[in-house]
Amino acid sequence: MKETQFELGAAYATKMDAADPLKKYREQFYFPKQKDGRNVLYFVGNSLGLQPKKARAYVDEVLNDWETLAVEGHQVGKHPWYPYHEFLTDSTARLVGAKPLEVVVMNTLTVNLHLMLISFYRPTKKKYKIVIEAGAFPSDQYAVASHAKLHGLDPKETILEWRPRPNETLLNIRDLEELIQAEGDSIALVLLGDVNYRTGQAFPLKEIATLAHTQQIIFGVDLAHGAGNLELQLHDDKVDFAVWCSYKYLNAGPGALGGCFVHERHAEEFSRPRLEGWWGHDKVKRFLMEPEFRPMAGAEGWQLSNPPILPMATLRASMEIFDEVGMANLRRKSELLTHYFEALLKQDEFKLVKILTPSTPKERGCALSLEFGKTGKAVMKKLSEEGVVCDYREPGVLRFAPVPLYNSFQDVFELCEILKKHVK
Ligand SMILES: *Cc1c(COP(=O)(O)O)cnc(C)c1O
Repeated sequence: MKETQFELGAAYATKMDAADPLKKYREQFYFPKQKDGRNVLYFVGNSLGLQPKKARAYVDEVLNDWETLAVEGHQVGKHPWYPYHEFLTDSTARLVGAKPLEVVVMNTLTVNLHLMLISFYRPTKKKYKIVIEAGAFPSDQYAVASHAKLHGLDPKETILEWRPRPNETLLNIRDLEELIQAEGDSIALVLLGDVNYRTGQAFPLKEIATLAHTQQIIFGVDLAHGAGNLELQLHDDKVDFAVWCSYKYLNAGPGALGGCFVHERHAEEFSRPRLEGWWGHDKVKRFLMEPEFRPMAGAEGWQLSNPPILPMATLRASMEIFDEVGMANLRRKSELLTHYFEALLKQDEFKLVKILTPSTPKERGCALSLEFGKTGKAVMKKLSEEGVVCDYREPGVLRFAPVPLYNSFQDVFELCEILKKHVK
C-alpha cells in the first residue's frame, strides 16, 4: 500500500467511512462530549478504551441476580457465577490465538505477571539472567527486578537490556539475536512487551520464541498493547506465557480484569512451582475441601480466588463485540486507518514532527507515537482545548491510537487538521 493511494482531502475520509464494513461498531460505544455537544476526538483507546453501550446491561444482570437470588446466583440465573469466567474462555482464546485450555481471565496484569514469573523464572547458578527491552513499561521492570531479588540475585547483574543502537530509537531484532547467542547459556527468561508502549514498535513473537527456545530460554510476553490490537497466534508462535490487561484495547473499563496465557506444553507440568489457591484446584474436587492442592491442567490452574463477577460482566460485553468482529477484520481496518493517519502526517505542514513508530504494518499496532521534544506538553494542551484526547509520555512524545472498533477516517482527518495549526 502506497501513500499515493490515499487522497488527502475531507471528501476522501467521508468516502472511506461510508465504505467501512465495521462502521456500525462506532455506534456501540459511548464517546465523551465536548462543551458544544460534539463527541471528543478520542485517541487514547491504548490507555482506556471507551465504554461499550451494552456493558451496563451486563452489569445490571449480575446486580439483579444478586438482588433476587443471592447465594443461589452461583448456580442459577442466565449466567451463574460459579462458571462465569468460563463464559469468557472461548472468545479470549480466539482473541490471542490460543486453545481454550491455554487461557484464563483473572486478576490484573502485574499480578498475573508475578504469578507467571514465580512459575517460569527458575534461575540456576548458571542460567539466571532475564532479558527485557530497554524502555520497558516500569511495572514490568519492577516485576522482574523483584523476582531477581526474591532469588537473592542483584537485579543489576541479572537483567540484560535489548537496547537500540546509538542514535536510534527502535530495537533491531538482529541485536536480540546476538545477545541471545552471546549470553544464551546464562539467560533463563526473555520478557518483552509485544508492542512497546512508548514507541509503538511491535516485535516478531514467533521469531523471538524460536531464538529463545534454541537456547532453552523461556519466552514471556506482556500483551498490554497487543491484546485487541494485533492479530495474535500465541499457540502457534510457541510463546511460553503471556499476560494482558483489558482496560486498554479491550474496552472492559478502568482496572478491568486481566488475562493470562500458558502454552499447552506447560499445561500439565504439575511439578513446576506455583502460588496455590483453591480456585486453581481441580474443579471437580474443589468443594471436597481436601488439604492437598491438585492444580487443574492449563491456565486455570493458576487461579487463586473465586473471581469478581461484576468486572467480568463488562469484559463479557466487550468480548462479544470482538468475537463478532473478529481480529482479522479488525486488523484489516486498523492497518488502513493507521496508514491513512501516517499519510496525512507526511504532508509538508508536519515536517517538524518525527514519527517514532515503524512504518511497516507488521512492526506496529494501530498507534503512532510522535516526537515533539520540548513543545510536547504545550501541543498536548492546545489539542485538548480543541477536543482532542491523546496522551503524553516523557520525554516529549504524544501517542495517538486510531482504534478501528470506534474511530473513523473522519476522526483522523479532523485530528490532523487541528494538529497542523500547532506544529509550527
Ligand atoms: C498498561 C501496562 C501495564 C499496567 O499494568 P497493570 O497491572 O494493569 O496496572 C503493565 N505493563 C505494560 C507494558 C502496560 O502497557
